[in-house]
Amino acid sequence: MGDPAPAVDLEALVRALGVKRVRVVDPLDLAETGAAVQEEVAAGEPSVIVSRRPCVLLTKTAEPAVVVNAEKCKGCKACLRLGCPAISVKNKLARVDPGACTGCGLCVQVCREGALVKGGEANA
Ligand code: SF4
Ligand code: SF4
Repeated sequence: MGDPAPAVDLEALVRALGVKRVRVVDPLDLAETGAAVQEEVAAGEPSVIVSRRPCVLLTKTAEPAVVVNAEKCKGCKACLRLGCPAISVKNKLARVDPGACTGCGLCVQVCREGALVKGGEANA
């Protein structure tokens, strides 16, 4: 109805359900998130990972779009696996739609060639 409402405390909620292993990760930190998933899968007991980050549709700010360094891109398509609608690969070269990129930096973490660089830092 548009009225202010309290946010649900997810950690408290799942603890109240009896889950002892509760942790919070930043989904834009791939290394942290990946490590958390591996550790909790191996834990052998129920666990909950809360992936916390404000909705990009509400927070889209001035982060510059990622740019592609065409000299470094190998066309491997690893960045496509993120499912980001701003990324495409054509003729073995990644492209980033600057109108759709929020500058979240996920693809920068994925590309092992260093071909994706935060805005203004590449010679694309
Ligand atoms: S930008 Fe990086 S991950 Fe994407 S196709 Fe090029 S080399 Fe592969
Ligand atoms: S920085 Fe984020 S939004 Fe921009 S192309 Fe990469 S994954 Fe997509």
